[in-house]
Amino acid sequence: MSILFDRITLIGIGLIGSSIARDIKELCLAGELVISTRSEATLQRAEELGLGDRYVTSAAEAVKDADLIIVSVPVGSSGAVAEQIAPNLKAGAILTDVGSTKASVMAQMAPHVPEGVHFIPGHPLAGTEKSGPDAGFAGLFKGRWCIFTPLPDTDPVALGRLRGFWDALGSRIDEMDPQHHDKVLAIVSHLPHIIAYNIVGTADDLETVTESEVIKYSASGFRDFTRLAASDPTMWRDVCLHNKDAILEMLARFSEDLASLQRAIRWGEGDKLFELFSRTRTIRRSIVEAGQDVDAPDFGRHALDPKA
Ligand code: NAP
Repeated sequence: MSILFDRITLIGIGLIGSSIARDIKELCLAGELVISTRSEATLQRAEELGLGDRYVTSAAEAVKDADLIIVSVPVGSSGAVAEQIAPNLKAGAILTDVGSTKASVMAQMAPHVPEGVHFIPGHPLAGTEKSGPDAGFAGLFKGRWCIFTPLPDTDPVALGRLRGFWDALGSRIDEMDPQHHDKVLAIVSHLPHIIAYNIVGTADDLETVTESEVIKYSASGFRDFTRLAASDPTMWRDVCLHNKDAILEMLARFSEDLASLQRAIRWGEGDKLFELFSRTRTIRRSIVEAGQDVDAPDFGRHALDPKA
């Protein structure tokens, strides 16, 4: 593949940043790939892994002369990063992010973005429960959606160049307004994680079932929740705090539906239970048909994540 940007700078080199770095290297998409992260230890590890061409501790230094800057840090830190790098962003550069919430990230970053810099927020819907530079892998974004939430006055040429970049990584691309993105993600990603954190927490607190029994018999269903509940605590704390309204709205709906399910079980309403469980099975089939998972045991995750 040909070089798409002369210099790309990645701020944050965890699971997402390092997966992007591996793809950029493998596909030769950048003339130079500059990597920056907050801690010396992570930067050193990125260098040991050979993820970039140059490694810089200061984010402000790292963005000098960059044509594309991708911020991959927890959403609660995106404003501080934007403030640090703003003075050194060159006119015409494209600044994007990968944060799991969009309205909050845009509100935090946009005020710092200088005139002439194209700020195009993004969110690749791909990941695992792992974190850090060792967790990333090439091909993570292949066949996965990447959602942009462009501002109304976004330059179409810059947007086209960013689309070209994610297209090269194998992503399918969509555009939404940030509020809609946050609602959609609240139900497809944030709520499932919160439910998983909650159920694993409940099992951990149980007094009548020992912890060893929970672990021993986990393959009966519990295990599938523990994968989500093992996700990075900093990232998920920030997601909850930064998509509060949409998450609370979805949680209210969820609680109502759960109460109705509870009633059906209490009153022995078998038909109602059967109808719901049949409906949900169809959704699973549609996900497989849409190529978003494979129809294999373990929800096919071994086939999707070579490191799992
Ligand atoms: P990660 O593996 O934990 O890596 C986080 C990176 O951000 C590290 O380089 C870390 O630097 C840096 N960082 C942490 N706190 C920071 C702070 N306060 N200021 C500046 N930098 C900081 O996280 P990730 O999974 O790659 O997630 C990164 C972003 O991608 C998040 O916004 C997340 O919402 C989004 N996202 C994640 C997934 C997923 O499945 N994980 C999927 C899609 C989008 P040091 O190690 O040097 O401290």
